[in-house]
Amino acid sequence: MPAVIDLHAHTTASDGDDRPSELIGHARAAGIDVLALTDHDTMSGLEEARDALSGSGLTLLPGIELSAQVIDQEPRAVPRSVHLLGYGVDPHNPVLAHEMEKIRAHRDDRLRLMVDKLATDFHISWDEVRQAIPPGATPGRPHIAEILIQKGYFPDTTAAFEGPLRADGPYHVPHYAPRLHRAIQVIRDAGGVPVLAHPYTGARSGAVLHDQPLARVIEHYQVFVEAGLAGLEIDHRENTEEGKDVLRAVASEFSLIRTGSSDYHGTRKPNQLGENTTAPAELERILEQATGLSVLS
Ligand code: AMP
Ligand code: FE
Ligand code: FE
Ligand code: ZN
Repeated sequence: MPAVIDLHAHTTASDGDDRPSELIGHARAAGIDVLALTDHDTMSGLEEARDALSGSGLTLLPGIELSAQVIDQEPRAVPRSVHLLGYGVDPHNPVLAHEMEKIRAHRDDRLRLMVDKLATDFHISWDEVRQAIPPGATPGRPHIAEILIQKGYFPDTTAAFEGPLRADGPYHVPHYAPRLHRAIQVIRDAGGVPVLAHPYTGARSGAVLHDQPLARVIEHYQVFVEAGLAGLEIDHRENTEEGKDVLRAVASEFSLIRTGSSDYHGTRKPNQLGENTTAPAELERILEQATGLSVLS
């Protein structure tokens, strides 16, 4: 039986709602053999996850999902928010540590500003939202969603994101994130392997604008490949089927690593552990390139 490999999962260290130790148990129960821990902009869940590993039979790949942005070189270009997975990074690398710290500080201010805006139309306060964010966790819109759900405004996180939390809505406030080429370098400097998360969805912004001929799309990806991009998360529930075809063509052009993952967030999103998986040979390629932290078991 080939190993079941899921390389994208969140905990209470960011916007998931499993504690890191609970995630280990849930992954094992879901039949996962190798799991990557990829909280947004922090690796603070790693210690608890590692402590829960013993005897579980699970292999853990330390990782991160770093916030980044792409700004095209056009006069009125609108920044596009993108997520970069980094596998096998060393959390103590000073450049990465500084970048994580900076993003989280800005996320904190930004969430507070969003709550201020929301408070004009909803009964919600920063104090309530702050209490929904575990100490040291990366603050995100799902923490606001939790309070809106508690107060009966929405049935679940997805509905809150279709409502006032959407990125193009009147309450949204963006936060600082490094440019993608810089984020790729930061992950590489920290010994990690950078893989673009959910690159071609119907709803979220992408690193590359895909409504252009394939040759142009490939040219745009080339810039990031030259900066050190190692792979693409192709099998993800939010990538469109047509998008996966394009991503496969790009991966083939540049011999990129192809991953498939769940992007599990506990009960906060419908994504189930193991719903998409990565081939063992692709994990091997990741491990060959990673020089920060290795897998733990
Ligand atoms: P933020 O990091 O504050 O910009 O919020 C984005 C996070 O919210 C993502 O990492 C997702 O985990 C989550 N998210 C985004 N869209 C949705 C959605 N439609 N339903 C549930 N969660 C979402
Ligand atoms: Fe998330
Ligand atoms: Fe993401
Ligand atoms: Zn994610």
